[in-house]
Amino acid sequence: MPALYLAADPMEAQLLSDYLADHDIAVRIDGAFLWSARGELPLEYPRLYLLDPNDEIRARALLREYERRAHIPSIWRCGCGQDVPHHFELCWSCGDGRPGL
Ligand SMILES: [Zn+2]
Repeated sequence: MPALYLAADPMEAQLLSDYLADHDIAVRIDGAFLWSARGELPLEYPRLYLLDPNDEIRARALLREYERRAHIPSIWRCGCGQDVPHHFELCWSCGDGRPGL
């Protein structure tokens, strides 16, 4: 099963896990344990996986609601002009960090 959601960092992954648990949807978080090794390993973002695939439609609706409420833009614009998906902290064109981090 593909990942339900790619979180920006372990805090967001935990927050979303709690948020979904409040709606009786259980998820597993993968990848967060590599966080402390960032810089030495290829960048890896924490991923959420559903424990019950039957929850997928409801979970995706909840995550859309979360993103709408958090006003998370789907992309950010790097100083070099590259548009980068919001869950990447580094520009994939020039390697600069996302502003405001
Ligand atoms: Zn850039």
